Formats: sequence, structure tokens, C-alpha cells
Amino acid sequence: MCRNERRFCRCGRNSAALLFRDNLLYPEILVNLYCPQCQDMVIWNETTMLRDCGWILEFDIDGAQALLQQRGVRGAATPGFLFDEGYLSWQGLSPGDLEINTELHRRLAPLIEQDLPLYLQSMKNEWLKHVSELKAQGWRKAQAA
Ligand SMILES: [Zn+2]
Repeated sequence: MCRNERRFCRCGRNSAALLFRDNLLYPEILVNLYCPQCQDMVIWNETTMLRDCGWILEFDIDGAQALLQQRGVRGAATPGFLFDEGYLSWQGLSPGDLEINTELHRRLAPLIEQDLPLYLQSMKNEWLKHVSELKAQGWRKAQAA
């Protein structure tokens, strides 16, 4: 079971949909979340933070390491490891992916009745277009997608 949660950033102007793979880490492990508009508050620390297109995630690395060890996950709990392995990461490829996905389904839904193959094809095309846009913007998870 994976856990999903929405978290607001420090300034409260933006929020991100988060994924907790296998429900291994607690939401508290994400000590702080900064959006592009509040990232200026941050005193950068590469041992606890990860930057992704203007967003910054700050982790409780010691806490994460203890939880991972408890559950038998090998590897040093670096910000990159936690993020890339999905233990505490965006749900989808970017903070707003969930909404974009929902909106896409809503927009294309009328096609399901009219023309199912076209619906499936459109869904695929639109999603690939979205992913390539994210990739071009430099989102970390999109690079591997
Ligand atoms: Zn913010």
C-alpha cells in the first residue's frame, strides 16, 4: 500500500501531491516543503534537501534512515534516494501532476462513449506531450520517464 497526501508549502500559496511508497515513511519525515515562491527562505543544505524545478523538499534524514533500516531497506537515506525511490516523492512526476491528470480525464471523458479507441489514443498522446514538457522543464522524475 502506498500512501498519498497533499502538503502545503511554507508560504501556503502552493501545495503538492505526495507519494509515500509502501507507506514506509511518515509525513513528518518531510520537515519542510518550499514552493518556487518561498524557496528564498531556505538556507540550502544538500545533506537534507532536494531541489526540483524551484521546489525544495527538506527531509528528516536521521528519522528516514531509522525507518528504512527498521523495514529492511538497504541504502543510505539521502534526499536523492528517498525521492527517486518514491519513498517520499511527488505523486506523479511533478507537484501538480495529480490535478493535471484529473483535468485530462475530465476533458476527454465525453469521448469514452463516442469513440473509445480515439479516447485511449488521445489520452496517451496528451500524456506523452505532458511528460515531454515536464522533461524539457527539467523535472527530476520526468528525466527518467
Ligand atoms: Zn510557498
